[in-house]
Amino acid sequence: MRFTLIALSIGATLGLASPAHAQSSELNLYSARHYPTDEALFSGFTQATGIKINRVDADDAGILARLRAEGAASPADVILLVDASRLWRAEVDGLFQPVRSKVLEAAVPAQLRAQPVEGGGISWFGLSTRARVIVYDKVKFSKSDVDNYEKLADPKLKGNLCIRSGSHPYNLSLFGAMTEHLGAAKTEVWLKGLVANMARSPKGGDTDQIKGVASGECGVAVTNSYYLARLMRSTNPADKAIAEKVGVVFPNQSSWGTHMNIAGGGVARYSKNQENATKFLEYLVSPAAQNHFANGNNEWPVAQGVQLDNPALRIMSGGDFKSELLPISVVGMNQVKVQQMLDRVDFK
Ligand code: FE
Repeated sequence: MRFTLIALSIGATLGLASPAHAQSSELNLYSARHYPTDEALFSGFTQATGIKINRVDADDAGILARLRAEGAASPADVILLVDASRLWRAEVDGLFQPVRSKVLEAAVPAQLRAQPVEGGGISWFGLSTRARVIVYDKVKFSKSDVDNYEKLADPKLKGNLCIRSGSHPYNLSLFGAMTEHLGAAKTEVWLKGLVANMARSPKGGDTDQIKGVASGECGVAVTNSYYLARLMRSTNPADKAIAEKVGVVFPNQSSWGTHMNIAGGGVARYSKNQENATKFLEYLVSPAAQNHFANGNNEWPVAQGVQLDNPALRIMSGGDFKSELLPISVVGMNQVKVQQMLDRVDFK
């Protein structure tokens, strides 16, 4: 497992603390956001507040393992994760301390945050959303072949479906949402259909699935929207060519809407720096930071009233689209059930 401690600066606190600053002027951030543009997002907070951010980067599983290992001795103040099922897992494992913030509660819609805990406070908040979309080979298929998730199990797609591992959190969340919509029994039949339609055994990340469609190995694939947007906006002509070769569908527009996942975060259970940690989360839902999510990593803002300004997302989605409105906490909660189904249908 790889951990990088960026910008660890012990000296920065020396001589700066004024009596008004009971809190540390540093913040320890454990982040699973794997997006290069986030550096600017985080430094905006330091510029605005003078609070220095020490960042530990790892993937979601690595962050959770580290927090569990550190226990009460953990120096973490804020935890950022990139999937609903992971946020739910962290909550259940007691890794967050509930936050009371009128700013966060006003900005983040109720379905995109944890259920309030007994006694008040909320464990985690969605900070940006991403759509789980379907891409397809425009020569072999048309939009109507894959305009909802159910059709991914249609025998017509036999030998054509490419998708990353079923156990990856992005898929656990999508399948968790399907379980809410269809019920467990029908979802398991659907998952079996997906396995029967696969062009190859699941491998690689979402970008690899898009590339598989462009190369002709796959007829249809499932990906998070920002991976496609990244290819569309790339300065590398080869990336742009891949994006141009594939068609994209925002599924289930005539039923429950396209599945949306979140990246989000909360205050770490043992943080003694709650005030600044909360301030940081509040910064992340400010219009400037929310715009950064939209433009930097091609995600949608969660905060109400923040205008989206991202041509790739606009082109891809056709401007407006219907998104799923399930409580994302429920989606995360279904992951245990989903993993059992995946095992039964042999979805790797
Ligand atoms: Fe990702």
